[in-house]
Amino acid sequence: MCGIVAYIGHQQAYPIVLKGLKRLEYRGYDSAGVALLDTDLNIYKKAGKVSNLENFAEDKNLNSTVGIGHTRWATHGAPNDVNAHPHKSGNDRLAIIHNGIIENYDALKKELIKRGHIFESDTDTEVLIHLIEEIIAKDNVSLEEAVRYSLNEVIGAYAIVIIDKENPNKLIAARNSSPLVIGIGKEEFFVASDATPIIEFTKNVIYLDDEQVAIIERGQEIKIVDIANKQITPMIQELEMNLEAIEKGGYEHFMLKEIYEQPQSIRASMLGRLNSVTGEVTLGGVEEFEAKFMNADRIIFVACGTSWHSALVGEYMIEDLARIPVEVEYASEFRYRNPILSEKDIVIAISQSGETADTLAALELAKEKGATIYGICNVVGSSIARATDAGSYTHAGPEIGVASTKAFTAQITILALMALTLAQKKGSITKTRYQELTNQLNDIPRLVGKVLESNEQIKYIAEQYKDAANFLYLGRGYNFPVALEGALKLKEISYIHAEGYPAAEMKHGPIALIDENMPVVAIATRIANYQKVVSNIQEVKARNGNIIGIVTEGDEAIRAISEHVIEIPATDEFLDPLISVIPLQLLSYHIAVMRDCNVDQPRNLAKSVTVE
Ligand code: GLU
Repeated sequence: MCGIVAYIGHQQAYPIVLKGLKRLEYRGYDSAGVALLDTDLNIYKKAGKVSNLENFAEDKNLNSTVGIGHTRWATHGAPNDVNAHPHKSGNDRLAIIHNGIIENYDALKKELIKRGHIFESDTDTEVLIHLIEEIIAKDNVSLEEAVRYSLNEVIGAYAIVIIDKENPNKLIAARNSSPLVIGIGKEEFFVASDATPIIEFTKNVIYLDDEQVAIIERGQEIKIVDIANKQITPMIQELEMNLEAIEKGGYEHFMLKEIYEQPQSIRASMLGRLNSVTGEVTLGGVEEFEAKFMNADRIIFVACGTSWHSALVGEYMIEDLARIPVEVEYASEFRYRNPILSEKDIVIAISQSGETADTLAALELAKEKGATIYGICNVVGSSIARATDAGSYTHAGPEIGVASTKAFTAQITILALMALTLAQKKGSITKTRYQELTNQLNDIPRLVGKVLESNEQIKYIAEQYKDAANFLYLGRGYNFPVALEGALKLKEISYIHAEGYPAAEMKHGPIALIDENMPVVAIATRIANYQKVVSNIQEVKARNGNIIGIVTEGDEAIRAISEHVIEIPATDEFLDPLISVIPLQLLSYHIAVMRDCNVDQPRNLAKSVTVE
């Protein structure tokens, strides 16, 4: 988490850095700050959103053609003005912005204090800039060398940029485990956590790799070395994204825009993979590793949050159609629990940003143990995409709202394509069923569009329950992960406590919570065990719970026992999650808006979780 931006060139740095911070605010909004270099090194920083910084800096000296900026998601130290980045060295010469965690900061800090350093903040970051300052003085080396030396002493994750009063034409950037992109303009350079602050200035970018240091000098070619001082030839790539994709386009919130984009984003995930005329599926990554997939003992999904929920849908899909055993793991647990893995396992990481620290580490562990690793990510060029043997991009377009919506449905689309490809190659699906499913998958974008037409009805339901203290979400089969996802969405953006449960499990505990104040969202489409779900809903009814049913068009049985029903079009239950989740996304969106919550930037959360 945390967003970093830097600029050096011929334009005024502050407006570029500030705009970049606004674009990166999804990554953290505990505080924001900038460092600019006029005759002095001027640092302005404030707790809270980038807009607080903007008001605070309004009447300050903003002259500078070089600058660094940071929007924070606090890991070490409270989210206040003092802990806000940039942090400076004791001699006021250097300033640093940092995304990540310096894990051995405590030991380093104790040593530095013994040697006379005085710290202002509680952050791990400040330790690093003092260490660099000390190395410059002690070893009489250049800034870039001091940065390299210090990074050899540091354990942890970092994307950093350093500005130096004595080198006004230079910025030093480095990364390990946290993302960092460098934009190459005409006699100007941009540095950022992702490409969104860069895109309107240049399409030429370099993705720095782990343990690399970039020496960015005005009017010079960029130089890259690793922390052992080996020269690296910079690889310049062209960005594919466009500017409209990262703006709100008339919607009140990014989340709403992203919910409404799903007919297009699901279509984009299928593009070039599902031939709508022949119904044939070709998923590049799977083709590439066909032999491995065909001989795999197991597929193991590693993921976090919403991606973990899509992985669960993936488990149902792949086991159901392709008959390959599948496990779904929380990446944060998997990486530390010494899992049993072999060369015949395929480990698939799912992550919207492709930067999720736990997922990336789980993947690295799997690689070490000889498993084949595969990535499903949205962000092109992200760390997971680059670390994997093969993979599939979701192509959903930039997702800015912190609560994931279109990335979820895009991931499920990829998983459906994967299950179909594997099933066909394994011969575990009949030709007719394959055709039936690919035809229906092709029709999903249209069906999602139809569900979106229920927006006003969903808004009305949101009004009835916006003050509830708790919600329960129930589903079975393919709709169980959807229940988990619906509950997560509500928690994340409206701060209402919600739990998702397999409908039949309810009687083993949560049923005790049901009374006339408990809204229960039952995802009860016409799936194989529909009758059993109806019985589960009866059990809620008998205890006076308020039922909101997500049902298949024309449903009578659930309508008769529910306070409200939201109808969704019929599709094969294999594809149900792609449409049954839509009303749940809209329900949480409207409830959050009605409760005056910050929908796009919910408290304590951030997107692209680059800390473990
Ligand atoms: N560890 C730093 C801090 O707390 C940076 C946090 C981050 O990257 O999320 O200030």
